[in-house]
Amino acid sequence: MSYRTVIFDLFDTLADFDRDRLPVIHVNGEAIHSTTAVVYPLFAERYSHVPLETFYQAFRRSFDEAARLRESEEREVSARERFGLFFQNLEIPVTPEIEPFLGRLLDAHMTCLADAIHAPLERRELLNWLKDRYQLALISNFDHGPTARQILDRAGMTSYFDLILISEEIGQRKPYTAIFQTACQALQIRPHEAIFIGDSPSIDIAGAKGVGMAVIWLNRRGELLDESIPQPDHTVTRLEEIKGILG
Ligand SMILES: [Mg+2]
Repeated sequence: MSYRTVIFDLFDTLADFDRDRLPVIHVNGEAIHSTTAVVYPLFAERYSHVPLETFYQAFRRSFDEAARLRESEEREVSARERFGLFFQNLEIPVTPEIEPFLGRLLDAHMTCLADAIHAPLERRELLNWLKDRYQLALISNFDHGPTARQILDRAGMTSYFDLILISEEIGQRKPYTAIFQTACQALQIRPHEAIFIGDSPSIDIAGAKGVGMAVIWLNRRGELLDESIPQPDHTVTRLEEIKGILG
């Protein structure tokens, strides 16, 4: 089968998120890697009566609430919306007056996250090898478009892609079909003309196969595939192995 377009996932496919690179904070005697280490001190400038533990629990809870919304409403929940849920959990009303403050916390959180994400040079070299053979695109689930784009820029990858779709920017997310259809329309291709490369069975494999797209599963840790997930067309343990499939 020959494909016109190769579509990549971003996180843990082209760029690696390393939680150990997040700063450490101690909550209830436990050392935790979390952006809370930089966000809480800013927050406490204004709300010093809220203890760290309460802050951290409310922050964690907003993640879970956002995850539930993403599933029940089949859409992306932006980081801005999640921070609104977080403030609700702390019973702080989000008024227009508080918006700039909330924006500062969000920026601090995102800067800290971006610093824990790294894309090795070989990945860019791989894109360089692919670009003469295929049209390249990227579909990423991420709740803050500017940060995802900054990560791609820093890695020197942006210019390789004809299309970059970040879920937060369009409100759609994988594994739901809308974002794959949006990509195909923008690229003027049919799903079977593309092959998708990603690490997540439930997000990438299920999503791409669901619209009839071929899939290469990047299975770095040799995980077993759950029975509920469709079989990928190919499985690799290192991204560089896709050369053998797409060469
Ligand atoms: Mg991923």
